[in-house]
Amino acid sequence: MPKMRVAQVPYANGPFELVERDIPEPAAGQVRIKVQACGVCHSDSLTKEGLFPNIEYPRVPGHELIGTVDAIGPGVAGWTTGEPVGVGWHGGHCGHCIPCRHGDTFACATSSLVTGITHDGGYAEYMVAPAESVAHAPPGLTPTEIAPLMCAGITTFNALRNSGAGPGDVVAVLGLGGLGHLGVQFARKLGFKTVAIDRHQDKAPLAEQLGAHHYIDSTATDPAAELQKLGGAKAILATVTSGEAMAAVQDGLSPNGTLMVIGAVPSLSADTMFLLLGRRSIKGWYAGVASDSEDTLLFSQANGVNSMNEIYPLSRAGEAYDRMMSGQARFRVVLTMDE
Ligand SMILES: [Zn+2]
Ligand SMILES: [Zn+2]
Repeated sequence: MPKMRVAQVPYANGPFELVERDIPEPAAGQVRIKVQACGVCHSDSLTKEGLFPNIEYPRVPGHELIGTVDAIGPGVAGWTTGEPVGVGWHGGHCGHCIPCRHGDTFACATSSLVTGITHDGGYAEYMVAPAESVAHAPPGLTPTEIAPLMCAGITTFNALRNSGAGPGDVVAVLGLGGLGHLGVQFARKLGFKTVAIDRHQDKAPLAEQLGAHHYIDSTATDPAAELQKLGGAKAILATVTSGEAMAAVQDGLSPNGTLMVIGAVPSLSADTMFLLLGRRSIKGWYAGVASDSEDTLLFSQANGVNSMNEIYPLSRAGEAYDRMMSGQARFRVVLTMDE
């Protein structure tokens, strides 16, 4: 039986273990992927720390992976062995429940599958995935460079393009980390008047390098007031993990503006009078499904959106995870299956 290496979490809050397993066979409806690179996302802490309900251990995390189709299960059409593919957070859907029948497969009511949580993900040399969760990747891209587009990329790109903002509108990106450094690039390339907001003036050169027209240091000024001086933001993309930081910028929205929340925080307070008088809104956004991943990859390739990464081999997955959790990575941590 041919073997593969995976980095697994043995139990909630357990240490990463590099183990050898049999390479899995794809069942009906699945494809097997030879993984080339997998990003390390903050949401992997749900698996590592057991924060997601009913996780079965040992579990292999990873929902930000790029690889090639290696084997195709029975009854699967539309895939070619060897073609480049990616898989993100959305781990599959049933196709027949009410949300699925309305095209909202992201909200599938019967099979809430999440890559690396409900089934094994991409911290591995091989994985099997439901075919509907797999995205075609354009050829010619470098796996370690594009893996973060499968979660950090799709989440920011898809939220921005569904924010209601159009070309020329003021759009702010709150936070310049793994998500935000992509969000600023997408905002600029989507034609928005792009404002980056972070703490401290030393982030200003980075913001400019990523394409921001303006930089706001939230420690030196009131970011909401600064946004209003620019006419107000039609959308604010909140990539931070602080409800207080989100609340501090929401008064920077223009009439009909939307605060797009793409990360979970314990609580978020809202200025309801400001919301209703200006018909403003606060909206959550789910990363997206495989077709959104394909759009993200094609847009990034066509417009030169690049993730800046720190690369670690699979054998150092625990170190890579700690580096991501430290918040010090510039900007995305990516595992490669090459040693
Ligand atoms: Zn993620
Ligand atoms: Zn469904």
